[in-house]
Amino acid sequence: MDLNEMSAMATSIEHTGAMPLLFLGHGNPMNAVTENEFTRGWQEIGRSLPKASAVLCISAHWETRGTSVTAMEKPRTIHDFGGFPKGLYEVQYPAPGDPDLAREAARAIKKTPVELDHQWGLDHGCWSVIKHLFPNADVPVIQMSLDHTKPPRWHYELAKELAVFRSKGVLIVGSGNIVHNLRLADWENDGGFDWALEANARLKKLIAGNDHRALVDYESLGTEVQLAVPTPEHYLPLLYVLALKSEGETISFFNEKAELGSISMLSMRIQEG
Ligand code: ZN
Repeated sequence: MDLNEMSAMATSIEHTGAMPLLFLGHGNPMNAVTENEFTRGWQEIGRSLPKASAVLCISAHWETRGTSVTAMEKPRTIHDFGGFPKGLYEVQYPAPGDPDLAREAARAIKKTPVELDHQWGLDHGCWSVIKHLFPNADVPVIQMSLDHTKPPRWHYELAKELAVFRSKGVLIVGSGNIVHNLRLADWENDGGFDWALEANARLKKLIAGNDHRALVDYESLGTEVQLAVPTPEHYLPLLYVLALKSEGETISFFNEKAELGSISMLSMRIQEG
């Protein structure tokens, strides 16, 4: 076997296993341009990942009626927030799109028609974290929207249809926050309120224990979790990632900290072995 054959073999071995899954608590959009413990956590994960052929991101910040995937060659960087310093609005994340992957995803999903989108791009739920995973913007990124008319169980079931892409080198990333209540946020608080920490601990325990039934039915988990998830969009990306976890895969948590009192940055990586 010559060197070329060996390297071809190594490449094929790299892609036969399932890619890890990530759920990233994205929090404050300023994390896009700040160096802190969270961004260091994402950077470390980025350096330790197997080579990804593309990223498929489910972000809290793209809610639609029906399901769409971004299908443009060059997704724009969307600055979908208000009241932040000018510098944040100047950040561009020029990762290419992947129209072929978008078409494949639309075909693979049977549960609902999937529209190929040419308007959206990359919202901050996606680029503010992916930027730290892949600072060179050299991995194509597509986004899949959250249909806001559908219940949690529907999202959990839809996500399962994406499993095939894990063995094709696609890194599936859910970006939200398991505790996210902006109405109660305290911008002077760099930790978590008691109820937020309790909700975080409760949800983390259910995640670690693979109790997906309880996590899908999160509205029945009591007052703390109701405060933690006042609206579903930051929580649903978690369900996408958990739905794709195979039995026997392990979960490692990182960025285990709350900020602004009412936001948990808890993030996780799920992988074989
Ligand atoms: Zn957000």
